Amino acid sequence: MQSAADRREALKAVYEQARRCEKCPQLAATRTTVVFGSGNADADLMFVGEAPGANEDKQGLPFVGQAGKLLERLLGEIGLDRKEVWISNVLKCRPPGNRDPHPNEIEACQDYLWRQIELIEPRVLSTLGNFSTKLLRADPTGITRLHGQAEVRVIGPRAVRLYPLYHPAAALYTPSMLETLRADFARIPDLLAQPAPDQPEPVPEVAPQPEPMPVPELAPKPETEREQLGLF
Ligand code: SF4
Repeated sequence: MQSAADRREALKAVYEQARRCEKCPQLAATRTTVVFGSGNADADLMFVGEAPGANEDKQGLPFVGQAGKLLERLLGEIGLDRKEVWISNVLKCRPPGNRDPHPNEIEACQDYLWRQIELIEPRVLSTLGNFSTKLLRADPTGITRLHGQAEVRVIGPRAVRLYPLYHPAAALYTPSMLETLRADFARIPDLLAQPAPDQPEPVPEVAPQPEPMPVPELAPKPETEREQLGLF
C-alpha cells in the first residue's frame, strides 16, 4: 500500500505525462491547456464531469465557469471546499466548439481517469450529469432515474460508492433541478461517513484493464498548468 505522499507524487507524474499528451490529434491541436483535474490528491470525494469548456481550457482548471461556482456553493453548504475534493472530467482536453467527445478520444483518455481513481483512492465518486454517469456505469440508464442513489461499483481499478448527480450546468437555470441537486448533495456527508468499500483483488504486475466505455445517446453540455500542480 502506497502512502498518500507517494500517491501524490505518482499523480504528479501522470499529470506531467498528460500535459504533453497528443493521443487525440485534433484536441491536442486546438486546446489551450490540458485540464487534468484539481484539488486534494488524497480526497475522499471525487467529481467527474464530461470535458473542459472554454473557461476551463483557458485557465487549465476544471469547473471554473458558472457551473463551477454553483458546485463550489453546494460544496460549501455541506461544509466542504473545492480544495478538499478532487474535480476532474472524463476527457482532459476541450473538444472544439464544445462538441461531444468522440469514442476514440474517450478510449484514449480513459487511462488518465483510471490512474486518478487508483492514486487518489476516493471513497465516493460523483458523476456529474448524464455523460459521465452513463460512461462510468457502462449502462444507458439516465441521470433522471439514477441521481441521488449511491451504489458500490468497480470503476476502473477501484471499488467506490458511485453517486450520480445532476450536472450543475443543468441546474443553473432550472430551480426545481437545483433543489434536487441540493438535496442530493446533502446526503454526501453520510456517504463519506460510511466505511470504504471492499476493494477488488489486485491483478499482479499488470493494471486492470477496464471495459471500453460506450458512448451515451445524449450528453449534457457542461459550462463551459500551472495552478493545477499547486492544488494537489
Ligand atoms: S483528451 Fe486525453 S488522450 Fe486526448 S489528447 Fe487530451 S489528454 Fe491526451
